[in-house]
Parts: sequence; C-alpha cells; structure tokens
Amino acid sequence: MAMNEPSEEGRFGKYGGMFVPETLIPACEELEIAFREAWSSTDFRKELDDLLRDYAGRPSPLTRCERLSEELGYQVVLKREDLNHTGSHKINNVLGQALLAKRMGKTRLVAETGAGQHGVATATAAALFGMECVVYMGEVDIERQALNVFRMRLLGADVRSAVSGSRTLKDAINEAMRDWVATVEHSHYCLGSVMGPHPYPWMVREFHRVIGIEAHRQCMDVLGRVPDVVTACVGGGSNALGIFSGFVDTETELVGVEPAGGAAIERGIPGVVHGSLSYLLQDEWGQVLEAESISAGLDYPGIGPEHSHLADIGRARYEKVTDAEVIEAFQLLSRTEGIIPALEPAHALAWMSREREFLLGKTVLLNLSGRGDKDAMQMMEVLG
Ligand SMILES: *Cc1c(COP(=O)(O)O)cnc(C)c1O
Repeated sequence: MAMNEPSEEGRFGKYGGMFVPETLIPACEELEIAFREAWSSTDFRKELDDLLRDYAGRPSPLTRCERLSEELGYQVVLKREDLNHTGSHKINNVLGQALLAKRMGKTRLVAETGAGQHGVATATAAALFGMECVVYMGEVDIERQALNVFRMRLLGADVRSAVSGSRTLKDAINEAMRDWVATVEHSHYCLGSVMGPHPYPWMVREFHRVIGIEAHRQCMDVLGRVPDVVTACVGGGSNALGIFSGFVDTETELVGVEPAGGAAIERGIPGVVHGSLSYLLQDEWGQVLEAESISAGLDYPGIGPEHSHLADIGRARYEKVTDAEVIEAFQLLSRTEGIIPALEPAHALAWMSREREFLLGKTVLLNLSGRGDKDAMQMMEVLG
C-alpha cells in the first residue's frame, strides 16, 4: 500500500535514505527514535491537536466554489490552508517539530528558508515555545525578501546570511545542517518540507497528514463522496503529500503540479541532494541546477523522495505549468471567488484551468496551500 512508513533505511521504494556525513547519523537516529515515540504517545498527539485547533485555527474549512466552477465547467472545492495562522500549511509541520524538540529537551531551533515563509513559521513557533531560533537564508534571498526578514527578527529570530554557492535556498540548507552538526546537544533542525535525510520526509508528511484526514471527512460531509481528482502544487512536496494522504487509498486521481522551470519529476534524474535520493535537476556532471519559478516557494531543484516513488508506481502523476499560466490563475481565483491565492497553489489552479476538457464533469479538490498577501507586491509589478 502507498504512503505507509518508509523502510528501515528510510526508503520509499528506492528513494529517500540517510545520505549525511557520519557526524549527523547519531542526530538523525536520535530524532527518528524520538519521533516514533512521540507519534505513538496519546499525550503528544493531544497536545499537538490542541495547538493546531487553538493556535493555528484548525480545522481549516472546505469551500465549494460556485462561480469558479461555472467558469471552468466542472465542480471545484478548495481546502483552505490559506486560513491557517501565518497564512499557509507550513504551521502544521513547524508546530509538530517544535513540540517534538521541546519533548527532546532541546532549547534552540535551526531552520533554512528560501522565500522566508518557513523561516517565519519557525520563528513563530520558537516565540510561542520560548525557544532560541536561528534561520539561515541565502544572501540573495535576504535582499529579495526584506519583509519576511523583518518579520522573523520581530518574532525574535536571528537571521543569518548564507554566502556560499548561489546564495539561495540550497546553500541555506547546507549552512543549517552545518550548524546542527555543531550544536546538536541543544538544537533541533526544523526542516521545512518532505525532504532531507530520514526521518524528515516521513515525519514532515505525518505532521501534514491532518490536511488529508480533515479533507476526506469534509468531502464525505459536503459532497457525500471523495472527489475524482485531488491536486496540489509541489515544491519539496509537503502540502501535496498532506492532502494526498487522505485519498491515496481511494480511487481518487492524485496530481502534483510543478513549475516548468523546476519540474524535477519530468526533467530530473535520480540523484542525492541534502541527504536523500530523489529526482533532481542536475547537469551531465551531476552538478545541481538552479530551479526557476515566479514563485520563490517552489524554487527547489529537487522533490521529496516519496513523490518520486508515487510517480514511479503510477499512484500520482506530475504536471508542469508556465509562469504566464500561473499569473492568469492568480487573477482567476481572485476575481471569481474573492480569494487571493499564493503563487504556489496558483500553479495547481493553472493546471486545472488548462485541462478543462479532461476535467469536464469531474469534481476537483484543490489544496489552497497559502494566501497571496505575500505575493501582492510582486504581482503589482507584473500586472501594473
Ligand atoms: C512553502 C510553500 C509551498 C511549497 O512547499 P511544499 O513543501 O511543496 O508544500 C507551497 N505553498 C505555499 C503557500 C508555501 O508557503
């Protein structure tokens, strides 16, 4: 069956694993043991559920879209992760990891961030738990994302510039791992998606499973059945795995949507980056290529290993869309439903908009992973 636990070596099929320097192996093993113990503890689960309800605002609603459905010619429903505290699904994972870190006796959170969304979420959880927080961010991204840098500092985080390589997300991940090696006694590395060495891809997926559990129940209540198609955008792939997990054991078709400039499944070759084996954009010498997308949150050259496995076994399929299609979709949802989406989930909507013929007569559930406030300035420049 798909989407169970990975193998003992942390593999989903042939993907995943724990490709880290020897000095990090004990830290990954300690984390796996701690997560396994916490995840089977009713106390831990209750404490996390309470936080998700009282702090993050869960359950997030399921919204039927009348005007959008009319425009597209088939029924559309949205899972509203945009309504969570801090504006996206990321809070689910971060609250889980922060609570786990506290249970492990750690007092400091280390995180990487690209556009700054995961950094803001981690800084939020650190403030809530009274923990120290260090966020690594590429020098280039620090310049591009000044507002999120300010937010993190306001929340009490120490934002540090990653100055190696391309000075973007992948370099920030390297710096964060280096920090973790040196401070593992009292630090937890709060990784932001379903990637990295085992147990991260599994653990992060489990912390987002709540999206799929709620969505399945809500679909039964509202539609009286599961949707024909569930779709979500894929950067590392955490919001997609969260919602897929609720439907993987049904007949529902699962579709992940990547930016054309970062289509790891379609254009990548299996390779190792940041601790795990997965499809990866690389050149003929194995050098990791830069992904390119209008949305900084999907600007990642790899993809979580479980997605590679789901693609290989044919349980999910992966599509790509262009920036121009995304800009159209961003406006479409705003205009028809009064919901300004983040640019990331606008990718999935762009696919839905293009595939009207294929989707005719079906019911499609879109995971609206975040809200578009953060992208308004950028879109103001694009649209004039
Ligand atoms: C970070 C982010 C993503 C991409 O991350 P995944 O791990 O692929 O889900 C998607 N949507 C929003 C709103 C984000 O902030």
